[in-house]
Amino acid sequence: SPVIVLLRRDLRIRDNGALAAAADTGRPVLPIFILDEENDGVRPIGAASRWWLHHSLHGLQKALKKVGAELVLKRGRTADVVAEAIDASGADTVFWNRRYDPAEAAVDAALKTGVRERDIVARSFDGALTHEPSLLKTGSGGFYKVYTPFWKALESGVEPRDPIDPPSSIQGLKGSLDGLTLDELGLLPAKPDWSAGLRECWTPGEDGAHRRLHDFIEESLPDYERSRDIPGKAGTSGLSPHLTFGEITPFQILAALHKSHGAGAAKFRKELAWREFSYHLLFHNPHLRDRAFRPEYDDFEWRRDGKALKAWQRGLTGYPIVDAGMRELWRTGWMHNRVRMIAASFLIKDLLIDWRDGERWFWDTLVDADPANNPASWQWVAGSGADAAPYFRIFNPVLQGERFDPDGDYVRRWVPELAKLPDRFLHKPWEAPPALLAESGVTLGETYPAPIVDHHAARDRAMKAYRAVRSDE
Ligand code: FAD
Repeated sequence: SPVIVLLRRDLRIRDNGALAAAADTGRPVLPIFILDEENDGVRPIGAASRWWLHHSLHGLQKALKKVGAELVLKRGRTADVVAEAIDASGADTVFWNRRYDPAEAAVDAALKTGVRERDIVARSFDGALTHEPSLLKTGSGGFYKVYTPFWKALESGVEPRDPIDPPSSIQGLKGSLDGLTLDELGLLPAKPDWSAGLRECWTPGEDGAHRRLHDFIEESLPDYERSRDIPGKAGTSGLSPHLTFGEITPFQILAALHKSHGAGAAKFRKELAWREFSYHLLFHNPHLRDRAFRPEYDDFEWRRDGKALKAWQRGLTGYPIVDAGMRELWRTGWMHNRVRMIAASFLIKDLLIDWRDGERWFWDTLVDADPANNPASWQWVAGSGADAAPYFRIFNPVLQGERFDPDGDYVRRWVPELAKLPDRFLHKPWEAPPALLAESGVTLGETYPAPIVDHHAARDRAMKAYRAVRSDE
């Protein structure tokens, strides 16, 4: 009888343990994607991610077709869809690759119990992470809260396995289960269609992922350690959305890096391990996105300021590096890591707005919106996370801009109304002499906003607010 394979955050046919195992049985295979947003606690994906998912599914449909299988698209509760698929196809086996978001993992755990009660074989496989969060333990048997020992544990652990070959052919099972068309899943923005900027930047899907990896290793990896912090350069891999949707696995990336021994490759491996660390934290802290990891931070008195939040979201704060980042995000669905830190610090510390508001905005607008990396990074910046930036580290948006965007390439690209300002005033236009502003076509408050807060006053306010909740002060 047939084998059902569930495909969710593993939209690939290469290094896909569940799919390979199903193909190896030699029996008919029924691959199903389920858009399951109907279980308690499962977080619906954001608008930019939906756009990505649409295109990624399109690629997966084609790739599966090439090897002989047909992807069935469904919407609903996972357990109900699988039960329907078993009844319709007569399958006696269900395979899937493990998910680590706690709500999604709970859905899969319940599925396993449920189908086994019907004498159906259920088996899950690895793929998304090189370590199993439930298995990696500290010396005292707990979980890791600090990155460096976590990284050491990964490094001294078992070597990550080799990638699994894609099936060369699969015996497809046609017509046994009715599915939706891709358009019926309703993932694309319609009125208005705001996805032009995303289309220009990205090629969602497995082939796009491997092309990015290849180009990155050829062009940017050797200098990664230095150029990864310069937002005006394409110095990072851009693999994050591909990883988030499981179009490529860390096993494949590490295997491709095998022959790279320089400082760039060493740094890149450590960044990949931050992703593993975020998942480790999420697995052990299911409420990572709605509760502060350090409980005293839940008493923090955040300001409610809808106007300031909106100015931040639209890239109209009057701080050029922050605004450039927020506009890059809006246009492309991605923001450079350095600028994510600056923009997040500005929301939390300069505006004293709850980090959860920022996390939600990123969740909706990032193509790489990730259940682990997003909340873990926001808590890191807020200082409420496990291995967090110290609370007194408040990014100065002017100094950060001058240091990491010294030639102003980044700000000029995303805030073109400031493009004519000379470098020395580009990150602080309010200090430019009026004649120079006029010459550059800038009228503060009209063509570009005056700063919505004074950074130095905001910094003092934040320090006071933070000291009030810190029990260790
Ligand atoms: P590269 O530098 O090429 O790194 C390769 C991969 O390593 C990335 O794709 C990512 O999977 C991982 N990685 C790199 N840096 C980090 C990091 N600091 N933390 C965790 N993993 C990392 N990353 C997401 O994937 N999804 C998110 O939703 C997300 N939200 C963030 C929110 C904030 C406030 C901040 C400060 C960071 C966030 N990050 C998030 C982490 C980081 O900014 C992105 O992973 C990175 O910018 C992606 O670009 P890249 O693939 O070119 O990175």
